[in-house]
Amino acid sequence: MGADFFGVADLGPARDFIFRQGGDRIARYSIAVAIGIRLSDDLVDLLPEQDQEGAILYRHNCYEVTNQVLDQIAVRLAGVLQREGSHAFPVPASRRTDDGEIRSVFSHKLAAHLAGLGWIGKSCLLVTPDHGPRVRWVSVLTDAPLTPSGSPMNTRCGDCTACVDICPQHAFTGRMFNPEEPREARFDVAACDRYFAELQQSGGVAVCGLCLYVCPYGKKKEETRSDNKRR
Ligand code: SF4
Ligand code: SF4
Repeated sequence: MGADFFGVADLGPARDFIFRQGGDRIARYSIAVAIGIRLSDDLVDLLPEQDQEGAILYRHNCYEVTNQVLDQIAVRLAGVLQREGSHAFPVPASRRTDDGEIRSVFSHKLAAHLAGLGWIGKSCLLVTPDHGPRVRWVSVLTDAPLTPSGSPMNTRCGDCTACVDICPQHAFTGRMFNPEEPREARFDVAACDRYFAELQQSGGVAVCGLCLYVCPYGKKKEETRSDNKRR
């Protein structure tokens, strides 16, 4: 269906975390299918320019269109699982359900992590070894008897602090993901959210993404592309 990443996660090890976020209607599922679409590097590489035109183009493609494609894949996959006799719950790719806590009902990044597709970095984004955090995700929760595709990947952030340093809101503490700790231990999501609101109120486009742009696991491709152009 056009996805670049696919994995099956055993949600058992993170059940308490999942329950705290989504309650029993979410935590009753044992399996998540994680699906990812890689973002256009050429659009991501516009982000540091922070101009209106680049932000409009990035937002249209990398948020709106990609989220729609992911939602369509999730709905169709949930239909397949349901026809096979399983429960299936497609979680929207990007739909906030709680404005107070600024969250949805389930973390796609956690599902992709548990499926062995990457680690949750100091940016709180899912970082894939080959394309960094330049991937958007969706999940389908299910009780289908699927075999997990992998186990959680250990962090490869090491001493890097590029995402922590570049954030204009200083929203990251630099702590690594730990399912025992609340999100606030790592990320001041309200500071990021306020920044987006300020951009919009000042007549700009609600786009930042510098933490996504700067990660060396995705950015190395930019350097390779520049080398190719010079040849
Ligand atoms: S999107 Fe921008 S403001 Fe928000 S956390 Fe990332 S770098 Fe910081
Ligand atoms: S920029 Fe560095 S610290 Fe941040 S997620 Fe990527 S590798 Fe980890």
